[in-house]
Amino acid sequence: METEELKIRGTEVNYFAVCPRKLWLFSKQLTMERESDRVLLGKLLHEESYARYKTREVLLENLVKVDLVGEGEVLEVKLSDALEEAHRLQLLYYLFFLKKKLGLEVKGVLSVPRKMKREEVFLTKEEEKRLEDLLKEVERVKKLPKPPPAQKKPYCSKCAYYELCFV
Ligand code: SF4
Repeated sequence: METEELKIRGTEVNYFAVCPRKLWLFSKQLTMERESDRVLLGKLLHEESYARYKTREVLLENLVKVDLVGEGEVLEVKLSDALEEAHRLQLLYYLFFLKKKLGLEVKGVLSVPRKMKREEVFLTKEEEKRLEDLLKEVERVKKLPKPPPAQKKPYCSKCAYYELCFV
C-alpha cells in the first residue's frame, strides 16, 4: 500500500470492525455520536487517563491523532473491553501509520482502566497484511452510494445510530 493512500482515520478503522454501516454513516458526517452520553463519558475518561500517563498528543498529517507515552509507545485508553478487537485494530492502525509515514516502529498499549487491563500490542508482518486488506475494505465501504443494510448485533442498542437503523 502506498503511503499517500493512507487517508483513513483511526476511528474509521474501529467503526469498520464494529459495523460497516456505522463506518458509512460516520463517514457522511452524521454527528449523532457526539450526542451520546457514552461518548462524553469516554472523553472524560480519556482526559483523566491521559493526564495520569503524561502523554504527548501528536496530530499526524492532520488526520491521525496519537498519544505518545514514555519512549514512544502509543497509548489507547478505552471505556470497556467490549469490542476489544476493534480497539486493537485501531491501535494497530496507528502503529502502521507511524511506520509507513515516519519510519517509526513503536509498540502500542491498550488500556482499559475500569477493568485494570493493560495489553501491549505489536505490529507484526501478519497484522500489517491484515491491515492493508482491511484498509481497502474501509475505502470501499466509504465510497458506497448507500449504507450497507442494518444487521442486528448484540451491541446495536448502545450504538449512537441505533435509531437510524431500527426505529
Ligand atoms: S445500530 Fe447496529 S447496525 Fe446500526 S450502525 Fe450501529 S452497530 Fe451498525
